[in-house]
Amino acid sequence: MLNSTRRQFLASSAGVAALGLTGSLAFAPAAQAADLRKKGHYTYKIGDIEVTSVYDGIWENQLFDIISPGNPANVIKSNLKEAGHSDKFIPIEYAFTVVKTGGRIILIDAGTGDQLQPTAGLASRGGLEAAGISPSNVDMVLISHMHPDHIYGLMEKDTNAPVYPNAEILVSETDYNYWTDASLLSTLPEFRRDLAKRIQATFPTWKNVSRFSGEKEVAPGVRAVKSFGHSPGHMSYHLSSGNDQLLLLGDAIIVPALFLRNLDWQLAFDADRDQASATRKAIVAQVIADDVMISGYHFGFPNSGKIKKDEGSHIFIPTTI
Ligand SMILES: [Zn+2]
Repeated sequence: MLNSTRRQFLASSAGVAALGLTGSLAFAPAAQAADLRKKGHYTYKIGDIEVTSVYDGIWENQLFDIISPGNPANVIKSNLKEAGHSDKFIPIEYAFTVVKTGGRIILIDAGTGDQLQPTAGLASRGGLEAAGISPSNVDMVLISHMHPDHIYGLMEKDTNAPVYPNAEILVSETDYNYWTDASLLSTLPEFRRDLAKRIQATFPTWKNVSRFSGEKEVAPGVRAVKSFGHSPGHMSYHLSSGNDQLLLLGDAIIVPALFLRNLDWQLAFDADRDQASATRKAIVAQVIADDVMISGYHFGFPNSGKIKKDEGSHIFIPTTI
């Protein structure tokens, strides 16, 4: 899936040996995680590029059958417990990213816009401004895919007015064409129809939306890379500066306690489940081989870190802030 970009990556590591970490150690939340959630943001550097993760809250999802439909809930729950999570719900946390590069302020996805669960929307309720970002100063928004938790933050709740009027909004042509196809509404499941209607009422009328196809450098040190499957044109964004690399996954991998532990598990929300699974495996192999830091939109908080092999499985080691 990412083969065409592999040569773009710096082969900085010959590979990482199995660490033999125990599950409990591997998944222990970073000691500062609760404080970080309360603060709502943290900043780190990838070479000369400044990267800020902005916390947008959580969906305490009790629909256990969205994970590999048919997978017994007790198996999912034991995976969650082993990772130190509650087993009462699947923790779908939200965190998007602000990148400062080449004098530009760039968002990668835009959060829920305080328009989904009451436990989410923190970024729109002052969290983004607390991270030092004013919406009017944002130069660009890069979209991973056009699901509500990633794009509702672009539009005001009742009016659909643009939240980032001065930003160029970039979205992959494949995803854009899929969601703006007028015939889509008749084929979509009920729960996706409002999303399609909102996209069709906004994006084609906004003058600041640009579409791109394939993989390309979209800003200094920022390259769009294909990670199709979760949505038809799902994109991840690869940052590179000096010897540092970061792959912003979007939803190519969601909850690590479930999907890194079980690379074959599937998600009901994946548009093409087999393709999504193949993409996950390719990404995991690549970021381990090339020692690339990753950041996941639904990884919890902190949501950046590295994937390591752990005997027959894989674990996520969050960044220590
Ligand atoms: Zn998502």
